[in-house]
Amino acid sequence: MGQIAVLNQNMINMIAAGEVIERPASVVKELMENSIDAVATKITVSIEDGGKKLISITDNGCGMNAEDLAQAFEPHSTSKIKTSADLHGISTLGFRGEALASIASIAHIRAISRTKDSTGANCIEIDCGDKGNVSPCSADYGTTIQIRDIFYKLPARRKFLRTANTEMGHITEQFTRIALANENLDLTLIKNGKELYRLSVEDGLRRRITELFPIPSVDISENLIEAESSEKELHVKALMGKPLISRTNNRFQYVFLNGRFIRDKFISHAIKEAYRGLLEPGRFPVVFLFIQMPFGDYDVNVHPTKIEVRFYNANLVHSQILGALREKLLGTNLEMPGKLPEIQRTESTSRRSPPVRDSRIADAMAEFFRKHRPAQKQQQLEFRSTTSSRVHAVSFEKPTQYDRKFLQIHDSFIVAQTEDGFVIIDQHALHESIIYEDLCRRIRESKLQSQRLLIPESFEISVSGAEALKANSGLTDKLGIELVPFGPKTMAIQAFPSLLSSVQPVDFIQDLIDFLEHKDAELDAESLLDEVLNMAACKAAIKAGQKLTDSEIEQMLADKQNAESVSRCPHGRPTTIKFSISDLEKQFKRT
Ligand code: ADP
Ligand code: MG
Repeated sequence: MGQIAVLNQNMINMIAAGEVIERPASVVKELMENSIDAVATKITVSIEDGGKKLISITDNGCGMNAEDLAQAFEPHSTSKIKTSADLHGISTLGFRGEALASIASIAHIRAISRTKDSTGANCIEIDCGDKGNVSPCSADYGTTIQIRDIFYKLPARRKFLRTANTEMGHITEQFTRIALANENLDLTLIKNGKELYRLSVEDGLRRRITELFPIPSVDISENLIEAESSEKELHVKALMGKPLISRTNNRFQYVFLNGRFIRDKFISHAIKEAYRGLLEPGRFPVVFLFIQMPFGDYDVNVHPTKIEVRFYNANLVHSQILGALREKLLGTNLEMPGKLPEIQRTESTSRRSPPVRDSRIADAMAEFFRKHRPAQKQQQLEFRSTTSSRVHAVSFEKPTQYDRKFLQIHDSFIVAQTEDGFVIIDQHALHESIIYEDLCRRIRESKLQSQRLLIPESFEISVSGAEALKANSGLTDKLGIELVPFGPKTMAIQAFPSLLSSVQPVDFIQDLIDFLEHKDAELDAESLLDEVLNMAACKAAIKAGQKLTDSEIEQMLADKQNAESVSRCPHGRPTTIKFSISDLEKQFKRT
């Protein structure tokens, strides 16, 4: 007798369940999605013991009649698609007709449902694929599905489940994704009888975000910038976190496509690029991105849990998202607000005064100066200062934002008065970002001028160094650097960008060769140019520890004002920290 036999349907369902139902959170996702497809406006999720004991989902959607209730738990049963043509352009969250059948094969289920036009409800119980009869019962319209003792007949799967807290974490994450994508739904999440979230349509998306992401000491929604763009049929809306609330991982990046949470490497890349230079290395932006596009422009049928999709025109999606986000970020003032100290209160004042901010100015300043200690070795200065640090009263021909007073401290920072307070500027970081922006603009407009050197500067070069330069001749051309061979192991620089006049050409070329020889092989031309511009700007910028004259400071403040986006240096560190006069007044109890 042969060894091969066809598995029975329940076994097939159990195996299929492994793909869709990994853990209690997958059940929550599938059932909430079903409620949304059933056009519910209110969904309540109740969880006991991390979903291991009970997952109960109640909606006020269209409900099912007795016949549909009996059919819904059969494999490949769906009301959402009928023909293969329907597969192109799926507008519902579900369509594979396998969630309920899968869940019913691995747990004890009780489902109660009532359609709007029916007078009574119906109920069915299924125990690990063992289906009972549909019987009438009483209930409000809509559907309730209760799942008990998930995987109880599959000890190997049950053992795989983590602690109740961990499983609850996964459930909360699924709930969060659905809550973000559906601000038009009233949603409640209950854990062991206690309400965790009650999200109301009336509160709006920003409030919802604040409730779902309680970051200590900041209100996340106050630090979100909104960007929107519509081109052809592709609509993008984003709530982008300011660099100030960046995270150490990308867990705070949520991308939704027509209400479906997705992961997509093109989109992640676009987000990363949009924040280029605005974040320190290793930091990730907070981004909530909502994309609307025709259902026929992508395929969702590429992954069992539909978390990945295939865009038919991924490049367009990438470029529109990058464009919309980047433009908005660059057009926004992203200066860091400074933190003011908590006042040491005496018994009597503490009762009267309102709570003040919890950070301390002394700590903030100490930390700031510790990190930005003047460079030990002062570099060759382009301009030399004659005055010492003091407060200046300067009148500008063209009034600037810094219209009255500034002061250089520790030869490294500039404190400047602004209309509504003052800013502390890291002189190196600011100058670096001004030069960087200037370089980028001139290269974009092909206006980077270079200067012929009166006497070409020659330098010795290794074989590999010469090869690296040769392989990147497009790059040096673009920068306006002219190099000619000058003997067997020697080269000469004949022309060098005027904007980098404060940099020793040979010094720069040596660093460039070093960089080109050790760069990441995967770096594309654009990123390579960007890295080199970063390097150039850093070298050309005035350094910490460098005394500046009044007119140099004035020039820098004026440049800052004319620049597009210099609140961060090209490495993503802040250039400017601002303090408002109203905060100071509060601190000094003037208000
Ligand atoms: P799919 O969602 O892929 O169609 P499911 O197995 O999740 O497959 O559900 C099967 C069918 O049961 C759905 O197509 C729908 O008709 C019905 N259904 C499931 N959940 C609900 C609900 N909460 N309200 C109304 N109908 C539902
Ligand atoms: Mg479904």
